[in-house]
Amino acid sequence: MNGGGRKDPPGAADAALVSLQDLRSKLQEFARVRDWDQFHSPRNLLLALVGEVGELSEIFQWKGEVQRGLPDWNAAEKEHLGEELSDVLLYLVRLADVCGVDLGQAALSKLKKNAVKYPVEKCKSQSTNAQ
Ligand SMILES: [Mg+2]
Repeated sequence: MNGGGRKDPPGAADAALVSLQDLRSKLQEFARVRDWDQFHSPRNLLLALVGEVGELSEIFQWKGEVQRGLPDWNAAEKEHLGEELSDVLLYLVRLADVCGVDLGQAALSKLKKNAVKYPVEKCKSQSTNAQ
């Protein structure tokens, strides 16, 4: 719910507050109840992640360059994109979990390192180092 009296779509509040820890816990439970922990080795999860990156890439394959915000895509295409982005995120979160990596902390640490590696005064408007 927002302050303007307009109702947000179902699940919007949950989605706005989702954390990597939430996803990690939900993925642990998802695997546990299906007895899939036995299959979730780091290697298997990495290969699954790469497969999902491939599925994500297929969405953009042969489209040429697309505009930010994807104004020319229809709702079904955007929904499909959201699904494949989610598959990538979920496998990444699960992989980090089974490897014992705190992904949120690691990402924050990496951002700090990148800020040192790519100082604004040397990199501003330089596409060669753009991330
Ligand atoms: Mg997929």
